This record gives sequence, structure tokens and C-alpha cells, in this order.
Amino acid sequence: MAFFDTSLEFIKGVGPQRAALLQKELRLFTFGDLIQYYPFRHEDRTRFYKVKEVNDDMPYVQLIGKITDFELIGVGFKKRLVGYFEDETGELELVWFQGINWVTKKIKPNTSYVVFGKPNRFGNKFSIAHPEIEPLTPGNERGGFLQPVYNVTEKLKARHIDSKLISKLVSEILKISQSHIRETLPTSLLQKQKLLSKREAVQAIHFPQSHERLKAAQTRLKFEELFYIQLRLIKMKLVRQEKFRGIVFNDTAILTRFYKEYLPFDLTEAQKRVIREIYTDMKSGKQMNRLLQGDVGSGKTIVAFICMLLVVGSGAQAALMAPTEILAQQHYANLKKFAEAMGISIALLTGSVKKSQRKPIHEALENGSLKILVGTHALLEEGVKFNQLGLAIVDEQHRFGVAQRSKLWQKNSDFYPHVLVMTATPIPRTLAMTLYGDLEISVIDELPKGRKPIKTSHRFDSHRLQVNGFLKTQIDAGRQVYVVYPLIEESEKLDLKHLMDGYESISRAFPDVAISIVHGKMKAEAKDYEMARFVKGETKIMVATTVIEVGVDVPNASVMVIESAERFGLSQLHQLRGRVGRGAEQSYCILMSGNKLSSDSKVRIHTMVQTNNGFEISETDLKLRGPGDLMGTQQSGALDLLIADLGKDGEILKKAREEALQILENDPALDKPENRAIRMQIESIKKTAVNWSRIS
Ligand code: ADP
Ligand code: MG
Repeated sequence: MAFFDTSLEFIKGVGPQRAALLQKELRLFTFGDLIQYYPFRHEDRTRFYKVKEVNDDMPYVQLIGKITDFELIGVGFKKRLVGYFEDETGELELVWFQGINWVTKKIKPNTSYVVFGKPNRFGNKFSIAHPEIEPLTPGNERGGFLQPVYNVTEKLKARHIDSKLISKLVSEILKISQSHIRETLPTSLLQKQKLLSKREAVQAIHFPQSHERLKAAQTRLKFEELFYIQLRLIKMKLVRQEKFRGIVFNDTAILTRFYKEYLPFDLTEAQKRVIREIYTDMKSGKQMNRLLQGDVGSGKTIVAFICMLLVVGSGAQAALMAPTEILAQQHYANLKKFAEAMGISIALLTGSVKKSQRKPIHEALENGSLKILVGTHALLEEGVKFNQLGLAIVDEQHRFGVAQRSKLWQKNSDFYPHVLVMTATPIPRTLAMTLYGDLEISVIDELPKGRKPIKTSHRFDSHRLQVNGFLKTQIDAGRQVYVVYPLIEESEKLDLKHLMDGYESISRAFPDVAISIVHGKMKAEAKDYEMARFVKGETKIMVATTVIEVGVDVPNASVMVIESAERFGLSQLHQLRGRVGRGAEQSYCILMSGNKLSSDSKVRIHTMVQTNNGFEISETDLKLRGPGDLMGTQQSGALDLLIADLGKDGEILKKAREEALQILENDPALDKPENRAIRMQIESIKKTAVNWSRIS
């Protein structure tokens, strides 16, 4: 058994009971687990202060001095022990509310102690409640270290397993493990990136000599973590490219015809660039796996269609899968215009398409006469068989799991179609590299010309009358309006009530206006019916919960009012705002909120008012919330990072990815001697993680 697999119960001071507790509370089983249980911060014990230097900005202070006297003050709950502590510059009070007996027994007046704690000011006097206190020894007199602080649970504390004890255990293990710590990165890489060795880093992440050393240790360990993730993703990509030949599509005659006769506008530079990238993939002979990111309204649909053309022009078929029925219908309606003009057959397949209508679709698909199929996950059903699926496009990736995505492309038995994943949720680069690091990435980072940026403003609830007045002018001018309410599951009942109250007060404020209401508790048909009425312009105001978040396209809607905007996440606010600004008219987004806002809500609302750029917004969101929350729990496994932080470590990630790429390019099988450290590390990761085994 490997040294680091040794159970924690075998370490001095632990034993079976404490080991069981550490397992249960912190999921720490082995030496290796504990050594990788990194402190979440360090307390600065690098220097000693003098009493007269103490001020109330200090989170902690470390002093050397003597207690001149003790005094017991108050009775009952208020009873406390005060120790009058002084050095040659002044005096302050040490205060204990608990453990008074212990203190009076152990701590002796007129003896030198090292005292550590948070100073509080009372008038012009300072005190430290429950300080850490140790006799001054030659060992601690020098100061000069950073004290690691570990997360422990209340249960552990109750059993006397605190941060201090963890630090002792870690130190024990470090003492006996030096010769077992294996270097996991090649020497040349360490030198090139100026990284600490693994041994140095593991030591310094717990017990650094200085802030610089701590930073260096963190950088090294973050680099390693991100490097191995990238190595795996890039390897997956390379293996797939090698294994899966792609059908070559290079007949561009059909494109020329489309561009000349049917393209209704000039493509933006970004659209052209992305089409070139995709075209290069599709004629390469390798299977394409590409993520297409573009903000709402950036024109992904036409890009998708042009790619479909390329495939259809060579006689193959293309499919587009959307996450909801409404979205699928909308895609279908948009694509149909182009397809029919070009004389290309196209069909829609969703859950609500009747059996009798399915049969001809299935047949046409199988005999190859149907060229483009648009739909929902109904496309994944058994009966759906393509004659030659050349391109599978998946819209709104994060609503489908990766498994579903691959189901679609496995619909061909002898070869895989090219795959294009489209998302309107801009993902920060660091996240994209980690979640989709096995895909190529294209970005449409430009909106079509002449688009008027949406004007966003923030209004407090107290200004509702003015807001209503503004809505009236818009409706009178022939526009339509969304009013969106939050609906969070935990407070569903209350939220639904707010929505209904809101609906009522809007009805009262706009007695002559036709209003739709849509929420998650309604039956699907009722929802679709109301949506359809709004799309057709029969109703002017749509009161809804976030069910309208995805994809609905009503170009005539020019105002998005978001109620209780402070309760929405940034990316959700941005998605909602994207529902307007789709037509020629100036559009508006109004964020309504109460007067009391948390600092995070303020940042979110401010960001929305400041910018329409989805990438900027997602970067801010990542910093506020962290990657797990940003992408929803379904993918958080991939983001379960031990030390790296995708919100902050973009630079390290970039370097790690570049290095991983270079190494795999020079040594795809990783069997050169200089990459031995990598090979061994993969072997050891493989034992614990499932992902590596897939690619070997
Ligand atoms: P999204 O990226 O959100 O899917 P769409 O593809 O729905 O965006 O495009 C939004 C609107 O912009 C559509 O009405 C589309 O016809 C139009 N559009 C797309 N590209 C251009 C362009 N280059 N110039 C002008 N309008 C464009
Ligand atoms: Mg779209």
C-alpha cells in the first residue's frame, strides 16, 4: 500500500475514534487526504506588535508581555476574568468568559507570554477576548511564521479537534512523509514556469515562511491541478480526432448561391470568422466538436443555417436540437424561410407532433429525402434514424447533459457527424476552457450593425407610478411589454402570490390593455396558448415568471420589467434582458427593487445598468458566485477544484493549458522519459478518478 493511503488512525494523537470523526465530518480518510486538506487562510504570526501600536483595524495582533494582575468581575452570565496585560509601551485587558478556572490555574502573573487575538476598543482602552496564550519560549520568541487555519465543524470542535490540532497532525505527517512525496511535474516544466517542487509546495502551503512563499506554493499546486485537467481534456480531444474520421464537406457551390441570392443582410465580421472556422473543421477529414458562443441576438441562427447548407449541399443531412418546444418551433420557423427559398426539405419533430405525422418524417429521414430536421429531445428517440447525418447542432448546451449531446451524434453507426454546440450563455474563458476544454471554441463577439443597445435602468418600488406611465407610452406606441417575477422553489407559494398580486395591480393600472400571464404551475397547453397570444400581438403585456427566460422571440416587445431584480442572478438578468432589443425599436430593461440591497445585489444591478456585454457580465458573475453556482449543479463535478479558483486563476489556467498542449503535441502517448512524472501521476489519478480511464 502506498504511504499516503495509510489511514489517519495510525497517526500519533488520532486513533480509531477520532479517525472515524474526521472521516464523517471532513471526508478525510488517509494521510494523503489530510495533506491535501489545505488551510483556507493563514494568521500572520510573522511579527510582534507593541501594545501602543494596537488599533481597531487589526484583525489579529500578536504581543509579548506579562499579566500583572487578575480580577474576577460581575456575576452570573456577566461573570468574566480580566487579566491586566502590559509590555514596556502600555497596557490592555485580556478577557475570559469561559474556562476561567483553567486560566487562573495555568496562567501565572509576571511571567512572559505570547498573546494572540483580535483587539477590541472600549473607549480608549483595548481588550482581547479569549486570546491564544502561550509561555514565551525560544521557539516562539522569534515569531516569523504564518499560522495555518483549517476549516473544522462544530462537532469536531466539541471533540477537541480544532484547527490547531489539524495543524499538528499535518505537521506530523509532513515530518515522516518527505521521502514519499513524488514530483508530479517534469523538471523542465518546473524550471520554465518557475514553480516550486511538489515537496516544497506541500510544506509551504501549510507552513510557509512568508507570504511570498505561500503564494508560490499556491501557484504551484493550482498549476498542477489545472494542468492535469487540461491534459485530460486535450488528450480526449486528440484521441477523438484520431479515432473518429469526419466526413469531408467542401462543396461550397450551394453557399455561393445562398450568399448571392438569399442572404438578407451582410454577415458581421464575427459571423464570417466563425463560419470560416467551422468550414475549416468540416473539410479537415476530422470530426468537428465545436462550441459556438454568442450573446443573444448575435446571429447564431444564420451561422447554423450556413453550416447546414454546407452539409446538405453534399447530399448529407443536418439536425438541430433545442431544449424546449417553443425554441424548437422558433428555430424551425426561422430556418424554414431560408430552407424553402433554397428548395431544401425541412421538418419539425417535437413531443407534440402526432404519431400520424411522425411516420412520414421518419421515412423521409431514413431514405434521405428529408435534409434538415429541427426538434427537441424527441430527436433522440429510437425511431429517429438518419440516412446520413452530417451535422448535429445542439442549441443551449447547458440544458442538455453531455450524455444527451453524445446520444445525438451516435445516431450514425459507421461515422460520427460533426457536432456544433451553440450557447447564448456567454461563459467566461476560464470556465469554457475547463467545461468545454475538449471542444474547439468559436465566439461571435459582435452584434449586427444598426442594433440599438438596450437601455437599462434601476428603479425603486416607490417609483412604480412613473414606471407604469412609461409602459403606457410604449404600449400606446404599439409595443409590447414583459413583466417578470422571480420564482424560487423554496418560497414558491409566496412568489406565486407576488406574481398574482402583481398581475392584479397591473390589470388595474392598465384596464384597457390585454394581458397574458404565464407561470410554471400552469399546464403546458395553457402556457403555450398564452405565449402564442403574446407572440401574435393579441396581448400587450406578458406577466410571467422566468419560464420565458429561454429563447422566445417577440421582436415587437420593447420593454422588459424585472420585479425584485435583486433576487435574480446576473446571468439570469442578462438572459431575461435578451428577450427585448430584437426589433428595430429602442428597447428598455427596467430593474425594479426594494430600497434595501445587499452589496452583491448592488454590484449585480450596477453591472446590468453599465453594460450589455454578456462576457463582461459572466466574468462578474463568476467572481461573485464561483463556478459551481454559475453553471448549475449538474456540471459542478467538473468544477470540483481542490485549490484553483476559476474566477481568479485565469492566468495560471492559460499557462497550464498551453503547457499541456505543447507536451501532448511533442509526446502524444506520454512515453518519453522526460514525461515520466506525468505518466506516473496519471496512473495514480486513474485509480481514483473515472475520467482518465476513458481515454487510455
Ligand atoms: P441568436 O444569436 O440570439 O440566436 P438570432 O440568430 O436569432 O440571434 O439573430 C437575431 C436577429 O438578428 C435575427 O432577426 C436575425 O435575422 C438578425 N441577424 C442575424 N445576423 C444579422 C446580420 N449580420 N445583420 C443583420 N441582422 C442579422
Ligand atoms: Mg437563437
